[in-house]
Amino acid sequence: MPCEVQPRFVVLYGSQKGQAQSIAEGIAEEAQERGLVAELSCLNQNEKYNLEKEKAPVVFIVSTTGDGEPPDNALQFVKRIKQKTLSTDHYEHLCYALLALGDTNYANFCNCGKTVERRLQELGAKQFYATGYADDGVGLELVIDPWLEGLWKAIKGALSKMASDRIAPSRGDSPKETPDLSAPDVEFNLLSLNGQQSCKSGRASVDTDSKCASVASSFASATQMSISDLRPPSSAGSPESESKSLGTASVSTSAPETKTTDAGVTHVALAASLTCSLPPLSESPLNVPALPPPYLDVSLQDVGTVEQIVGQLNKESVHEVPIYRAVQLTRGDSVKTALLLELDISAHPTMAYEPGDSFDVFCPNRATEVEEMLHRLGLHDQRNHQVHISLKKDHKKKGAQVPSYMSPNISLLHLLTWCLEIRSVPKKAFLRALVEHTGDGVQRRRLQELCSKQGAADYNLYVRDPSLSALEFLTAFPSCSPPLSLLIEHLPKLQPRPYSAASSTLKHPGKLHFVFNVVDIPACNGRPAGRRGLCTGWLFDLINRGLVFPGKVERSGSLALPKIHVSLRPNCSFRPPSDSSVPFIMVGPGTGVAPFIGFLQQREEARQENPEAVFGETWLFFGCRHRDGDYLFREELEGFVSRGVLNHLEVCFSRDDPAQEEVGASVSRPRYVQHNLLLNSQNVAEILLRQSGHLYVCGDAKNMAKDVNNTLVAMVSTELQVDQLEAMKTLAKLREEKRYLQDIWG
Ligand code: FAD
Repeated sequence: MPCEVQPRFVVLYGSQKGQAQSIAEGIAEEAQERGLVAELSCLNQNEKYNLEKEKAPVVFIVSTTGDGEPPDNALQFVKRIKQKTLSTDHYEHLCYALLALGDTNYANFCNCGKTVERRLQELGAKQFYATGYADDGVGLELVIDPWLEGLWKAIKGALSKMASDRIAPSRGDSPKETPDLSAPDVEFNLLSLNGQQSCKSGRASVDTDSKCASVASSFASATQMSISDLRPPSSAGSPESESKSLGTASVSTSAPETKTTDAGVTHVALAASLTCSLPPLSESPLNVPALPPPYLDVSLQDVGTVEQIVGQLNKESVHEVPIYRAVQLTRGDSVKTALLLELDISAHPTMAYEPGDSFDVFCPNRATEVEEMLHRLGLHDQRNHQVHISLKKDHKKKGAQVPSYMSPNISLLHLLTWCLEIRSVPKKAFLRALVEHTGDGVQRRRLQELCSKQGAADYNLYVRDPSLSALEFLTAFPSCSPPLSLLIEHLPKLQPRPYSAASSTLKHPGKLHFVFNVVDIPACNGRPAGRRGLCTGWLFDLINRGLVFPGKVERSGSLALPKIHVSLRPNCSFRPPSDSSVPFIMVGPGTGVAPFIGFLQQREEARQENPEAVFGETWLFFGCRHRDGDYLFREELEGFVSRGVLNHLEVCFSRDDPAQEEVGASVSRPRYVQHNLLLNSQNVAEILLRQSGHLYVCGDAKNMAKDVNNTLVAMVSTELQVDQLEAMKTLAKLREEKRYLQDIWG
């Protein structure tokens, strides 16, 4: 019998935080189950693929980072395909599909995906499947899930088209010269995710264990579970509840109004919650994702003392610097607590920064949460053991690797403290994997719901929107006992947090200042008490006792403050204009004012050094809640004005006047920075449109930056007497010229 050759295709990804990579890996894994060979590579591994000769379908999964930049591991690829010397038929032989990941809270949504797509098309490549643009601002899965579902039909279509093209005797006989470009039946909206789709005929319908199958609504609250409810993980749901060929399982349940736990305790569901669903979801058949194949072997070894190296922090670019001074900028009764930290970087000449740069702060997970996690995993006694991680011998995961950020010889305590983001929101693939380690049938069913298509709204409501952490999630599902390897496979690397420099070294040699709000994350279902942000909460605890309050006399010989690890992240474009005569406008409410303090300090030094030079006008739009509560850097800003460094300081207070109404241009007392911009629209437009000035926006990405952008569109439209589209094009041009710049976060 001749050996059958499996049809192949190529999957390429560009990924910053691992999201695009894990989607690409998922595709490669599912391909195997569908009898296809997927050749998976990262875009920067160009020795592993050859697009110049590739005839098989190519699937690109690319994310976008920063201000529309390609992820680091796609930079070279994007540069290559952007070369002007490439001819318009360079990729004529190529057929592709593309999934772009982005976030509409940021400028240049899916810019990297769009750039790759535009260049592929300019170079002659043909699309075999409609491009998906997934938006992290509303939930990536809204687009990703239906896109992935339609992908397989499209790949099959592209492969059979290729096969028939090969069989066709001559070019002239071919019914069609190009692949069928019509997108398969995919709807990129939430409606396509409703329960109706899950019962397609021909789809494997698999019952979970009988107890789970009889469950309609889940238990009323996790606290009603008793220890006797728990079953050992060995008897947890079995992998056979997986539809191998389709990668989904359709789990049928009936719909009684009460449900019984494995221990025979009956609960009546009163309201939906993290751990409890109501009809129709509790009665719905479910499409759950395929089980991610485990790929790591993890063992713990008692080797006496384990070197507690600071792992990733040992990199050359990471510096341990002392906190020199810590100041609380907001009044004690303010809603938010803003702190200014001054770092002494004088011993680190390579930390040279400029206003506009930001830098990373490396913070550990909270000790109490690490302890809780150790208990939760049943590994508290082994916390000082050395962790050994290796790839499973016969793992089925394409492109599997031991995470590179796990240094060898680290202790379990170190791993949970510095390497894994145990606060990260558990992804659906993780929930799916947890099902296999959950003893109680009711909890298993709820986990299946939360990772299913039908449970997408519940997942958003109870997990994603409240930013539930992996630890909080595990606490809510007490019968779930995942092995350590599962956490290492599914939790992302603990990322450092970036902060904008709020100083200039010209004014403060050897110092680096930054300002931040202590993030407060409220209590929610699954989180009985609110908690602070990881890094801002950690910093707050570190400096709390040595805090200085403005206006109060500083104690001499005040408490020595600790050191922290930081590394520089230069930003080459968010800089004041290089020509000092160019006017510029800064918009930075709240902590968004940070980089502009650096801009103005630098300007002041430049003016003193060169008083004869021409200096363009400077404008700052600042906003906060209360004049007397959270007006950050008030004295410093007013000082800049009195010394002529800052020509226009426009400040508004959103909560000082209860009668204040948001009425846009007609508002007499502006409430938010965008209202103030509108009140000054003629000056702003003059600077931007006629004097080649620059405009900088810094701060909250979710609301402020969007509102400012919309205001600018309206302003340009009025000033130039053009429609909205033309106004948007004008702003896009300003962005391209790097005259409209954003440094935003959310
Ligand atoms: P985390 O533990 O990471 O928690 C923050 C997350 O909690 C949010 O992303 C959100 O998912 C969630 N969350 C927050 N509030 C809620 C809520 N009410 N309900 C549910 N979930 C919630 N920040 C500054 O203060 N000053 C700066 O100068 C600054 N500069 C930055 C520069 C850049 C280039 C970037 C990318 C970010 C910058 N940030 C700045 C943001 C900063 O990096 C951190 O994200 C921020 O300080 C929070 O970190 P954390 O570890 O304390 O919070």
